[in-house]
Amino acid sequence: MLKSLSEILFEEGEERGKYYNAVSPPLIQTSNFVFSTVEQMRLALSNEYDYSVYSRGNNPTLAILRHKIAELEGAEDALVFSSGCGAIAAALFSQLRTGDHLVCIRKPYTWVSHFCKVILPKYGITTTFVEEGSAQAYEAACQSNTKLFYLESPNTFTFEITDIRAVAEVARSKGIITIIDNSYSTPLYQSPLSLGVDLVLHSASKYLSGHSDVVAGVLAGNKEMIRKIYDSEYLAFGAVLLPFEAWLMLRGLRTLEIRLQRSTANAKALIKAIDNHPRIKRIFYPFHAQHPKNDIARSQMKDCSGLFSIELNVDTPDEVILFCNNLKHFLKAVSWGGFESLVDPAITVYDFEHPEANELSWRIVRFYCGLESSEILIDDVLQALNILDNGAKNQQ
Ligand SMILES: *Cc1c(COP(=O)(O)O)cnc(C)c1O
Repeated sequence: MLKSLSEILFEEGEERGKYYNAVSPPLIQTSNFVFSTVEQMRLALSNEYDYSVYSRGNNPTLAILRHKIAELEGAEDALVFSSGCGAIAAALFSQLRTGDHLVCIRKPYTWVSHFCKVILPKYGITTTFVEEGSAQAYEAACQSNTKLFYLESPNTFTFEITDIRAVAEVARSKGIITIIDNSYSTPLYQSPLSLGVDLVLHSASKYLSGHSDVVAGVLAGNKEMIRKIYDSEYLAFGAVLLPFEAWLMLRGLRTLEIRLQRSTANAKALIKAIDNHPRIKRIFYPFHAQHPKNDIARSQMKDCSGLFSIELNVDTPDEVILFCNNLKHFLKAVSWGGFESLVDPAITVYDFEHPEANELSWRIVRFYCGLESSEILIDDVLQALNILDNGAKNQQ
């Protein structure tokens, strides 16, 4: 039987009797572990998966975290990494070899795109990007050497939805491995393993840690796959999370549910307040009625979290800059998932000299709704939108 969220956070992986009965999980800040005999040391070194030898492999603080993450995702095991990108690298390199091909959703996380376009080709691995996250699109992109489907649903600027169950079914029928980035939804809002996906990864720097003070990643799946990755890419690439960051993440996880609820409620309240504003052309949010895959989103996500984008109804890039610079509460910053609300306009990375090279319009502005009161967030965005209106009037 599946454990409840409270059971997972309260007791999964914890053995308080071993740690002076401390309530809070122990921070085992050590690089290595001692053995009393050569025989014990030999045994441990033959199986670093089960024994703590050196903290690039096993560390008891990380072990508690791994147990909790695995249970949250409904997985048999999980690994934690020093960044989401560390998890992505281990996942890709563990499943692919020279001559292989993968199919990836268009506009994945920036550095996944970099892996596919720059790093993997150096090892003779090619990628086809699909415009749409549908079974038909993934199937049509398959070649005889396709080994992997990479999914991100929703992605985190334009919030496109992949039909996870249907794409995973195509993969199963062809013996293709599926990997999904589940950072946006967290295990609380979406359970990709139950939809047939093989490996789930997260940037734990976002909601899972939740306080804008940790960079971390996780990867979850069945025991056989995870153990294979542990014995090879995990130990060799060395993108291991430090015990203190793991401890911070354990602390963050305990409030995941209430943080997520607050962030979600704030995003929905803000969207409602600005929905019909004449300065907003479009809202990108999977549960918004305008979303083209609204039905699929609702069928595979329990809820929709606190990140969304708008397309401003403006004529010039200067108006986007005017709007963002006039936000008084939203901090201008990348990333998301912490206490503070953030704004990240696409214009900050837009290449005006090569407009055709851009995947996003400069009119798109992404908001992360944090844990402040919703009134502050609504007032802030409305006053900045109104400044756009006044600016337009003054020009007339
Ligand atoms: C931030 C992010 C990543 C990368 O994670 P890091 O922890 O920054 O390495 C991957 N996927 C998504 C959706 C992200 O937002």
